[in-house]
Amino acid sequence: MRILAVGVATIDIVNTVGRYPPEDGEVRALEHHVSLGGNASNTLVVLSRLGHHCSLAGAIADDPGSRQILQQLQQHGVETHYLARHANSITPTSYITLSRQSGSRTIVHYRRLAEFGWRDFSRIATGQFDWIHFEGRNIPDLRRMMAALKARPEIACSLEVEKAREGIEELFPLTGLLLFSRGYARHQGFSEAASFLAGMRDQVTPGTTLACAWGEQGAWGMDGQGGLFHAPAFPPPRVVDTVGAGDVFNAGVIHGQAAGEALSGVLTRACRLAGEKCGRKGLT
Ligand code: ADP
Repeated sequence: MRILAVGVATIDIVNTVGRYPPEDGEVRALEHHVSLGGNASNTLVVLSRLGHHCSLAGAIADDPGSRQILQQLQQHGVETHYLARHANSITPTSYITLSRQSGSRTIVHYRRLAEFGWRDFSRIATGQFDWIHFEGRNIPDLRRMMAALKARPEIACSLEVEKAREGIEELFPLTGLLLFSRGYARHQGFSEAASFLAGMRDQVTPGTTLACAWGEQGAWGMDGQGGLFHAPAFPPPRVVDTVGAGDVFNAGVIHGQAAGEALSGVLTRACRLAGEKCGRKGLT
């Protein structure tokens, strides 16, 4: 399948520590690695490994970090043709502290780069793609992009809803697959996924598939007929790195949906893929 994802590419600088340091403290890292990050990029790297033809549409700076990003994307077989380059910008960077004691990851993100916008998107010949996946950010422009695709029902469309951004709910009727995060569900006042998904059903076009990952508890999903499914997590022998687990899960769901599999099987496969990832450093 030919897949385009609209979203960001970042550099992740990951330090593993024994336990998270107190404020104003100092601690030595046990491990350190630098890798490609960003939700859309991560999801594409996994989809590429699953055999799809992937292309990233996003903004990119013109600095050493951006060259590292280009190299990494190309190494993972992700096309970079539709990246919009911006001079005098800085590659978005996530400084991530992974705590071995708790398994948590604390992220400080720095960004000074324009968003990929409607004008960039309108230059893409979207007809060459079977599936377009959107990261839920830059909402006004995304609304135009997704509305334009509404007139092209032959192109499947998915939306990742990770953060509660103003107006993001207006995008829900514009897609056939919504991928929610636990953080978004909690922000809406829900402490578990099943009732959150049931509540979401009124906000989407009938027939839309919903999924919501919930860390060590696995994931829940609701198919187009309102059937609710749960898949447990697949814990690895040792949890090594959970950074990007949600992005891997999303790739698994897109892969399964595209193959026309039933949602229960799709969720199970996506959780297995994400669980395997948690057992190793980095994405692949
Ligand atoms: P995010 O990375 O966006 O915070 P989640 O924490 O919800 O996303 O994780 C996404 C998926 O990754 C979960 O549905 C689950 O299948 C898997 N996962 C996450 N943490 C673990 C874990 N500790 N053990 C096994 N699987 C996990």
